[in-house]
Amino acid sequence: MTRDAPAIDDAGTAAPPPPGKIRCDACPVLCYIADGRSGACDRYANVDGVLTRVDPLVMLERAVEHGDAVTPFLGEGAEWDGALAPSPSRFVTAIGAGTTYPDYKPAPFIVSSQVEGVDMVTVVTEGIFSYCGVKAKIDTDRHLGPERALVRYGGEPIGHVTTGEYGSQMLSLGGVHHLTGGSKKEGRMTCEALLALCNKQAVELAVDDGVSIVVQAGAAPIIDGVVEHRMRVGCGSAAIGMFAKQWFEHVDEVVVVDDHITGVLSEHQAGKLLDVPPTGIKLRGRRSTPGRYFRVAEPGSGWGGTDIEDPLTILEPFDPKVARPGTTLLMVSTTGDHAAYFVLDEALRPVETPMPDAVRASVARVQENCEPALCSVLFIGGAGGSLRAGVTENPVRLTRSVKDALTRVTSGGAEVYVWPGGGITYMVDVTRLPDNAFGYVPTPALVAPIEFTMTLEDYRALGGYMEAVRPLSSLGAVERQVSLPAADGEAWPFDARHFPKALAGERGTR
Ligand code: SF4
Repeated sequence: MTRDAPAIDDAGTAAPPPPGKIRCDACPVLCYIADGRSGACDRYANVDGVLTRVDPLVMLERAVEHGDAVTPFLGEGAEWDGALAPSPSRFVTAIGAGTTYPDYKPAPFIVSSQVEGVDMVTVVTEGIFSYCGVKAKIDTDRHLGPERALVRYGGEPIGHVTTGEYGSQMLSLGGVHHLTGGSKKEGRMTCEALLALCNKQAVELAVDDGVSIVVQAGAAPIIDGVVEHRMRVGCGSAAIGMFAKQWFEHVDEVVVVDDHITGVLSEHQAGKLLDVPPTGIKLRGRRSTPGRYFRVAEPGSGWGGTDIEDPLTILEPFDPKVARPGTTLLMVSTTGDHAAYFVLDEALRPVETPMPDAVRASVARVQENCEPALCSVLFIGGAGGSLRAGVTENPVRLTRSVKDALTRVTSGGAEVYVWPGGGITYMVDVTRLPDNAFGYVPTPALVAPIEFTMTLEDYRALGGYMEAVRPLSSLGAVERQVSLPAADGEAWPFDARHFPKALAGERGTR
């Protein structure tokens, strides 16, 4: 289907539809769409003069019978299977549901069903999120760039490096300032990158004064062209604690090189408890507590996330009053990717020597304890604004209902985390949604599925659009729909534990 451009004049008002075109009113762009063509976002089309949501409405079915994970959208022709009476084990997601604009109109689908004899309602809409972004967790020790460094896509700034976590580097991408506060191109590039990331596609990003990185949800990061395989076992100090027993009988000294906390066996509490004698080793950097050193080198893509390629550069000369020729030394990174074995010569200089089998086995054990390095992508969006008006005429009641755990929020059927405090700001792991669940509009903003499920009684009490409630069985008449099995391990949105008061026959309080 060919795409029509939006048709808004410079004053921001929409002219009357030209002959043969219809106007899409699902977002502020208000496209005029000719027959057989789609609007600027490719989500809506003119099909024989009728404004039609192009993608199918996605229904989830309990995976009990299937045992399958959620699969991508079915292809052309794989539409509604003819079942006329969807069972309560079906859940209507907002994927493909469409958007209402402006928001004072009821959401596209407000669907009732019975769960354990209790009338429930699910309000679904594809929310348009100008306030949204992505938090990306990159399992790697490698230095991606300084904290606060800009992250670019297509040359445009779309986010920044933020505080690193345990064994992972973190990126904060998108947000209203990049979407709306910069140039048009910055907003467009931000939207494009967010959309691809949320739809689990690979995106190449460049960090100012840092690396180039390919990020894809659920896949290993590729940093400067190198696939990251392992997430570190822990910091250098933790690694000493974990493997001290396996080391102390086979080697006199161990240094676990780490950009954050480098560990030294003989000085570490673990070594002390195992009676590992001092070796006279001296490290560069800042000693924090015994056997734990900060800043032994600069951050980089070398050993343990430092910039070093030769581990001996972090050592000062051994203390001649303590050190003895023949002392053995293992230096290893926090992933076990780098390791070298040394023996002190007569001048107390470490000389690299073939690694004994027992020591090699200990390095393999470090590697074995590393988890696969992955990129995790969490969409974060704020539904605290006008989107709530599609659910109720009194939007603050919806917010309160969510906070009171009377209303459950899901995104494409997936569990979300709702932040405490004001509004409905939620996060969801994009790998838990069916493929291509996200869309965009060229305002620019992301379109994300969001569902609110509660008892019908609670919906009435919060001022819901009761006249728009329709039974789940009526969705059989929706021509474009697909049923997907809910993912194994995903909490079923109607699960009784989400509505303990209601399904126990005890009405919730507001
Ligand atoms: S961008 Fe999409 S949703 Fe917005 S008016 Fe155009 S076709 Fe409709």
